[in-house]
Amino acid sequence: MDLRPAEVTSILKKEIESYQGETSMQSVGTVLSVGDGVARVYGLDDCMMNELLEFSGNVRGVALNLEEDNVGCVLLGNASEVKEGDEVRATGRIISVPTGPSLLGRVVNALGDPIDGKGALTVSEDDFLPIEQPAPSVVERQPVSEPVQTGIKAIDAMIPVGRGQRELIIGDRQTGKTALCIDTILSQKTTGGGDPSNSEQVICIYVAVGQKQSTVVDVVRRLEEHDAMKYTIVVSASANDEASMQYLSCYAGTTMAERFRDEGRHVVIMYDDIYKQALAYRQVMLLLRRPPGREAFPGDVFNLHSRLLERSAKLSDDAPKINPRYKAGGGSITALPIVETQEGDVSAYIPTNVISITDGQIFLEANLFNSGIRPAVNAGISVSRVGGSAQIPGMKKAAGGLRINLAQYRELAAFAQFGSDLDAATQATLTRGERLVEILKQGQYAPVHVTDQVMMVHAGTSGALDTVPVKEVGNFESAFLAFMRDSKPEVGEDINNTGKLSDEGKQAIEEAAATVRSQMGF
Ligand code: ATP
Ligand code: MG
Repeated sequence: MDLRPAEVTSILKKEIESYQGETSMQSVGTVLSVGDGVARVYGLDDCMMNELLEFSGNVRGVALNLEEDNVGCVLLGNASEVKEGDEVRATGRIISVPTGPSLLGRVVNALGDPIDGKGALTVSEDDFLPIEQPAPSVVERQPVSEPVQTGIKAIDAMIPVGRGQRELIIGDRQTGKTALCIDTILSQKTTGGGDPSNSEQVICIYVAVGQKQSTVVDVVRRLEEHDAMKYTIVVSASANDEASMQYLSCYAGTTMAERFRDEGRHVVIMYDDIYKQALAYRQVMLLLRRPPGREAFPGDVFNLHSRLLERSAKLSDDAPKINPRYKAGGGSITALPIVETQEGDVSAYIPTNVISITDGQIFLEANLFNSGIRPAVNAGISVSRVGGSAQIPGMKKAAGGLRINLAQYRELAAFAQFGSDLDAATQATLTRGERLVEILKQGQYAPVHVTDQVMMVHAGTSGALDTVPVKEVGNFESAFLAFMRDSKPEVGEDINNTGKLSDEGKQAIEEAAATVRSQMGF
């Protein structure tokens, strides 16, 4: 880079001045150039990677490029106040964010500063933790064994998510990705009654990256309406925030999650969406003149996501003995990253990267969404690599037939469009499949409890709905679940307490379905 003579003289003058005076330990530098939210700073000799820098006018920055004679950094906040020649102070600490229970119910930005107008956070110096922390090591982890109930039938039955799992939600624009997140948050209320001081309550963190502010406002409003903000933190770096804030927000949210995990709590974190995070990262890195790679993303874009998602895990019970950082064992972070695809192309660069990092993906399809199958989960190409170990045994049993029935149905449905006279077996498969598809439909903001899911799925796979007209399946479901609650509460209680679906339970469900059917006249 070219240095102008005037600059060189002023720097030399400063060097000579400081040589005459007392030597001080604080690292102070000078802005060489500034623009597009990045600055080059001269004179920060012992600057660390990701160190927080203070510019004049209360603007902060993060050092990202440590070069031979200058430091490249991104500016956080109002960059227009920074001028060439300004003083820059190194703070000696890695960029960190506040953590802890006082963040619950709040909307904060990527630096953890509240942006909801509800006043300052009550946090102490100890509550500030660096946003980049190492992921738990192999011995500090344990396999996924407990379910995260999303309350969405199609997911809990067929693509179960477990505590500590990373499950990608992938789909085109407007296919209900955000809706899945909101429903999952609402469903977590069943774990601890929505009371964050209850140690069973799962904490939720929703990181909104590069979204319209109106969308974020809408999400917060929905959560408040359903009384779910009490156990939720919203980290928002919306489209009009600096690219640097957008890319850092995911790490900030994860640090907040880790604080709860280290205390033995369970957390679900959603990144909506990390494709936009990659775009923000690309912007920052191109401005910092890092060499562009495929699709102009920098070479480390894979690491951008893998180091983020690797931090989600279930801690082993012995973790506190291995690492004093963990105050209790057994805590977990479940990550639900979202990636938006273009025209359903899951084999594009960023989607394939993230698919290979995560433990499965939930694929939402625009065609299904538009044909009224909502949530638009494509069960054919969605997978959960954790499988049945993230389901209660009752659900595992009930859902066993569901996948097969649906797969057979999908195969035949394509042919059946052409043929008119179908044999009885084909007809039966189609009848069953149509009803199962109907059972898996679900409105927004209405998560279904797992016991209700088990009963409904069993009713469907046992064929109890085969004579119910397709249009009436929704009504039948409400009537049937109400009947089970009022007349046979012991079946639900048994599933709830033991986690299992007994033979008597199965029989009771089938009998109840027959009763409701005759009441409704089918
Ligand atoms: P974007 O790409 O804009 O982020 P998205 O994929 O996050 O979109 P959503 O915003 O969640 O999609 O949903 C798109 C629209 O579909 C919304 O208007 C939402 O209300 C509606 N929707 C989502 N899920 C359902 C559902 N299960 N039943 C009915 N409507 C739904
Ligand atoms: Mg969305």
